[in-house]
Amino acid sequence: MSNHVLVINAGSSSLKYSLIDATTGEAAASGLAERIGEDEGRLVHRGPDGETSTEKAIPSHEDALRRVIDAFESHGPALSEVDIAAVGHRVVHGGAKFGVPALIDDALIAEVEELVPLAPLHNPANLEGIRVARQLFPDLPQVAVFDTAFHQTLPEHAYTYAVPAAWQEQGIRRYGFHGTSHAFVSHEAARLLGRDPAEVNVIVLHLGNGCSISAVQGGRSVETSMGLTPLEGLVMGTRSGDLDPAIPAYVHRELGLSVDEIDYALNHDSGLKGLSGHNDFRELTRLRAAGDERAALAFDVYCHRIRKYVGAYYAVLGTVDAIVFTAGVGEHSPDARATSLAGLNRLGITIDPTRNAASARTISPDDAEVAVLVIPTNEEWQIARETITVLRS
Ligand code: ADP
Repeated sequence: MSNHVLVINAGSSSLKYSLIDATTGEAAASGLAERIGEDEGRLVHRGPDGETSTEKAIPSHEDALRRVIDAFESHGPALSEVDIAAVGHRVVHGGAKFGVPALIDDALIAEVEELVPLAPLHNPANLEGIRVARQLFPDLPQVAVFDTAFHQTLPEHAYTYAVPAAWQEQGIRRYGFHGTSHAFVSHEAARLLGRDPAEVNVIVLHLGNGCSISAVQGGRSVETSMGLTPLEGLVMGTRSGDLDPAIPAYVHRELGLSVDEIDYALNHDSGLKGLSGHNDFRELTRLRAAGDERAALAFDVYCHRIRKYVGAYYAVLGTVDAIVFTAGVGEHSPDARATSLAGLNRLGITIDPTRNAASARTISPDDAEVAVLVIPTNEEWQIARETITVLRS
């Protein structure tokens, strides 16, 4: 059987794709259709001839996928000549229903539709990607890989919020996100340590535009910082992360903001952006170095929150073999890594400054009790692998 998977990540106005060999992780091609539904769209395709970019309106997700197929035909590799095993879709919210990836059929689509209230922006876009892929690749099996699935192993005491029973009956609990990344990176960490994933405890810090931390015990997620939605936990590019749950009601009463306005502000105008005016960590780093006080405070709040969570998750796990940094900030910001873990020597956590500055794979000293690692995430590869696993099962 072929091991090539076309991985699709459909957002509300974008469609990312990769053609991946699930065995090696090698991408034969990848790309992004963006600004779908806007006046000017763009398709970037990276194939055997390098990168090509075309600007032209992309009215719908269906047009986007048709353009992607054309790009494969024009710039390679021609899809008609690749033996594709399946299409693997990223789906953000799988609720409590999906702890593993699943073959897509009409019943699964109906179940994912029922979860739309939990992810009103993401799940409809993911479903649209599934709809057009089924239409344009009717002969290929399609698999849904859920961002929440890896965290379905959280024990009940970790996923339950102390809220009224009637709320809990509505499905209000911690689900957690970035699961594909946490799964990939924690598995890679065990591999790097030369140990069986079932024997190691890892804290994973996924620090991208969205940020989350997880405690992975013997290969299973037992705690994670994102909750019912991706808003909870660490400080992110534009999301607040944790706050006093009384704040939304206070802001509603005192500032007159509506529920939707508050929801928008906490998701899009908070985090690093709310603190400094900038959500891009590179820009924040530049401004901080130039003496900008708001950027310096934003950086400190961001790192302080991480340190607090590392301490908490250390307590959850009891023993920690490795702490792993991944995603844009985690992979590329020595300052954020060093500041977040500063002063934790008593926990066996130390960073070697030279290794950290070079973003080496291992940034702790050789004799450190806890290995501190920098591992690039690869969600597309993980989706491809899980897609093949579903086909074989
Ligand atoms: P996403 O969550 O969208 O996948 P990424 O994992 O690409 O995001 O992370 C994006 C974040 O990583 C941005 O804040 C970006 O500024 C930051 N980043 C990327 N490269 C660097 C770098 N060299 N130094 C510091 N931050 C970086």
